[in-house]
Amino acid sequence: MIPRFKPYFSWKELKAAFSIPKKDNVERFEKAFAEEMGQRYAIAFPYGRTALLFLLKALDLKDKEVICPAYTCVVVPHAIVYSGNKPVFVDSQEYDFNMDLNLAEQAITENTGAIIATSIFGYPVDLDKLDSIHKRFPHIKIIQDCAHSFSAKWKGRPIQKEGIAAIYGLNISKLITSIFGGMITTDNEELASKLYSFQQEKLKRATLRKSFKRLVYLLALYPAFWEPIYGIINRLERLGLMDRFTKYYDENAIEMPKDYLENLTKIEARIGLAQLKKYDSIIDNKIKISKRYTEMFATREDIKILPFKAGATYSHFTALVGDRNAWLEDYYKKGIQLGILIEYSIPYMQAYVKFSRGDYPVSKYFSEHTINFPNWLEITFAEKNIGSANG
Ligand SMILES: *Cc1c(COP(=O)(O)O)cnc(C)c1O
Repeated sequence: MIPRFKPYFSWKELKAAFSIPKKDNVERFEKAFAEEMGQRYAIAFPYGRTALLFLLKALDLKDKEVICPAYTCVVVPHAIVYSGNKPVFVDSQEYDFNMDLNLAEQAITENTGAIIATSIFGYPVDLDKLDSIHKRFPHIKIIQDCAHSFSAKWKGRPIQKEGIAAIYGLNISKLITSIFGGMITTDNEELASKLYSFQQEKLKRATLRKSFKRLVYLLALYPAFWEPIYGIINRLERLGLMDRFTKYYDENAIEMPKDYLENLTKIEARIGLAQLKKYDSIIDNKIKISKRYTEMFATREDIKILPFKAGATYSHFTALVGDRNAWLEDYYKKGIQLGILIEYSIPYMQAYVKFSRGDYPVSKYFSEHTINFPNWLEITFAEKNIGSANG
């Protein structure tokens, strides 16, 4: 079974996992991360959502409206609510999967504190439009959610630098991983020092127990992504037996993981550092395969593919289909797992209907019709097996 995503792990991560812990593992990871993103500061957190939560706090936002996409990872509004603010959802635009920035501008009120601009699936957010919003409302903080788009570019400009700060997610399904983990980058010295002090004072020190759990989890990933084993796991998943392990959200609850206030572990920092060195080649590979998919599917009428976008990271290669389950089944029979990355539009979820403001038709459509293709594998395999599988 070809998995829908797979972390780029080799012996290098194993070596990093078993090397002797050093006092400055986390600092070194932060420093290398900041360098790779071309920013002055990077501050590590246990999850991307924890990073966002503390960023909102560090910006002194409280009882404010925070504008975010209806079609994004549900952990984003979780962090907004936990920070004591209110999410205001904005529908997507039709020509890519990102939030419609015209609607975002219309959603601004005198109580708006921040806009979370997200480059979903790696499609870069429109920085020209964002600039014009920023000019009109300079007091509103622009936060880049780069969970899918570390160093995506809009007309050559790196996304992460356009705003007060950028957040990143580093779990195993992201572009690079530190097992779990999150990061904030910024050029703002005052903000950075506030975030460092939060990291030191408001978060608990990572315990040995947590490090050990992370090590065990990492070691389990190696066989888990081995194809025969992955097939078995996938079958259990289809039977609903894996939900406890793989389902990361509950339709009805606004909640954080138990250890969301326990700092990033040293082992995670070492894995992150090893992954950072592979960063450029990982992105290159994803872009190459995604470009090839774009060409392969271009002539098909049963699937809608976005035009290839230069500057996108293609964290996922996502397309729109009519009958999603039929596609999943067809590929499953051929030993290929397709993904449904975001299968919800947040304002329609039980826990968030109270924040809904009317209809979000485009994101609702996406939540029902998007599908994503494995774009981590060898391009020759992708050519042979993916484009033709359902033709
Ligand atoms: C993964 C993700 C995050 C952060 O996720 P964590 O699991 O908390 O690290 C934030 N935004 C988006 C769009 C994501 O996909």
